[in-house]
Amino acid sequence: MQRIGIMGGTFDPIHYGHLVTAEQARFTFGLDRVVFVPTGRPPHKQEKDVSEAEHRLTMTRLATQSNVHFGVSSIEVDRPGPTYAIDTVREFKQLYPPGTDLLFITGADAVLQMTGWKDYDVLMQLCEFVAATRPGYVLEHERIAQMFGPNASKINFFEVPALAISSTDIRARVRSGRPVRYLLPDVVIDYIFASKLYTCSR
Ligand code: ATP
Ligand code: MG
Repeated sequence: MQRIGIMGGTFDPIHYGHLVTAEQARFTFGLDRVVFVPTGRPPHKQEKDVSEAEHRLTMTRLATQSNVHFGVSSIEVDRPGPTYAIDTVREFKQLYPPGTDLLFITGADAVLQMTGWKDYDVLMQLCEFVAATRPGYVLEHERIAQMFGPNASKINFFEVPALAISSTDIRARVRSGRPVRYLLPDVVIDYIFASKLYTCSR
């Protein structure tokens, strides 16, 4: 039976934090494939603050193309209206044969917001969650376990060493001319400069 990881994100831009997290999740949880799903219109972020979906989709494709186990889905970008994880997981359920295991991959920061997600209790019945934490970050596990009560057993933790990289920081670096090399793949950096992303405050 197939095990599929779903890595959702704004990916504005995608960076090595995302990529190393996906690769580690694939290894730790025995996934056959990790599908990156750039968000359409994220309900928690103002649309004007987020780059066009086409740019985010392209950067995600460029960054993942060298890994045969990685794929990219445009289902959230193609779906009209705001993006909700529950809709995406339901679509994945339809796409894959019955019995396919779906694992939703997030950073611990995203897990802490999850109780506010649409139909989050239904979501927890449909898939498992794997949450990336920094090495040794036991406190995060405890806080999350308290928050989720009986659902806590659906959340599995794993450690990745690159959690300090963020898209927000990369955008600020591009804007102010500071280096971004080695924080994200060169192909994505080239795309950012060729497309003049993040250069003026939007
Ligand atoms: P922003 O700074 O704009 O919020 P971000 O870097 O947090 O961007 P997102 O697209 O918001 O990236 O994150 C997508 C997913 O990746 C979320 O589940 C988030 O928790 C996770 N994530 C983000 N950065 C890292 C990182 N450095 N290491 C591991 N996971 C990360
Ligand atoms: Mg974030």
